[in-house]
Amino acid sequence: MDTSLAIAEVHLTPILIADPPLLNTQGVHQPYTPRLIVEVVTRGGVTGVGETYGDGEYLALARPLADSVMGLPVTDVNRLFSLAEAAECAAAGERGESGEAGEAGPGPAAADVAAGGLRGVRNAAKLRLSVVSAFEVACLDALGKTLGLPVHTLLGGKVRDRVEYSAYLFYRWAAHPARPAPEVPEDDWGAALDPSGIVDQARRFADAYGFRSFKLKGGVFPPDEEIAAVRALAAAFPGQPLRLDPNGAWSVETSLRVARELRDVLEYLEDPASGTDRMAEVAAGRARTGLPLATNMCVTTFPEIREAFARDAVQVVLSDHHYWGGLRNTRELAAICRTFGVGLSMHSNTHLGISLAAMTHVAATVPNLDYACDTHYPWQTEDVITRRHAFEDGCLTVPDAPGLGVELDRPALAALHRRWLDDDGTLRERDDAAAMRLADPTWTTPAVPRW
Ligand SMILES: [Mg+2]
Repeated sequence: MDTSLAIAEVHLTPILIADPPLLNTQGVHQPYTPRLIVEVVTRGGVTGVGETYGDGEYLALARPLADSVMGLPVTDVNRLFSLAEAAECAAAGERGESGEAGEAGPGPAAADVAAGGLRGVRNAAKLRLSVVSAFEVACLDALGKTLGLPVHTLLGGKVRDRVEYSAYLFYRWAAHPARPAPEVPEDDWGAALDPSGIVDQARRFADAYGFRSFKLKGGVFPPDEEIAAVRALAAAFPGQPLRLDPNGAWSVETSLRVARELRDVLEYLEDPASGTDRMAEVAAGRARTGLPLATNMCVTTFPEIREAFARDAVQVVLSDHHYWGGLRNTRELAAICRTFGVGLSMHSNTHLGISLAAMTHVAATVPNLDYACDTHYPWQTEDVITRRHAFEDGCLTVPDAPGLGVELDRPALAALHRRWLDDDGTLRERDDAAAMRLADPTWTTPAVPRW
């Protein structure tokens, strides 16, 4: 065994990154959102980086895992799963809780379990996998740098040289509501609250980045307004791929109505209704609508696949290497989708350049990547890497440099960490409903179906 590959140090750096006032069915993005940057340093002196969600519950799992991976070779990424389970159980034991960290069911963090949210079910296993993913990516980055090989080579090699992404359109305000903060990020995108605002936003995305496909985050306004926005996009970009994602805000009946009305212009409808039962009902109407359903909400963990696929509730799974547990698990998901004839693309949550690099590497290795991947990246004006990714014709060229092909910008990382340290705690947990209450004090997270 080459001991130079053993992990000698782990650095966890929680940060707050600027985020525009993007609207969704639960509220609005806060001016800053938490992320966690994971660095592993090998005895050979090579540093690998990973990135994941940064709310407190992720940090609470990352800290004991950081302790337990000391001495682990960065080649042993399979071990991360059992180490994370053990670390989680030990941490729960210290808190005086009991329970096992089961794959399917809620583990020791069961008190935190919530069914719902924009990313689907939340349970201990999914939280743990989201943390493991950042360590896995950091290990693969370090291994690649040590060997002089890109991460996609460590995953078996790329099957494409470019990965296509779609423009992620949002209803949005021009500015965040006033809040007692020392600084609030601003941009020059302006408000987009009607069809013409959405088309203007899409044109800017197309001109600046070359995106060809467009996804509109819906569930914000009554469905007829969102149908009008998609119709306006179809008129402005005839024949180009369009998607609409209301994050499960609609009833089965509404979902079927929207599907019928937009079947000639959408390539898929994403999570129109909430939960596998409702999605299966909507999918059963597919003979009439002809429209595939995509999800990043009702199939987000391996245990959810069986029922959803058996019932043909979804026709496209939007993978996310964070909550599926890393790049290699993403490839396993891809193999399952291939086996069952289910399409595959990629979900995005607010992320920086490390995660975009990881997404691009794994996407390059998956043969059945059927649609352009989602990314929030253009909305993120801050980063922790020295050279931001540049889209060309809506695509990223797959990096062939060793590891992920990105380099940490340490002054930027330190500044974003300083922001996290200086925060009074209100922004360290992403809470779109709380952000919405600054504009509408009566706001509560809407029950589903909302329409
Ligand atoms: Mg979605």
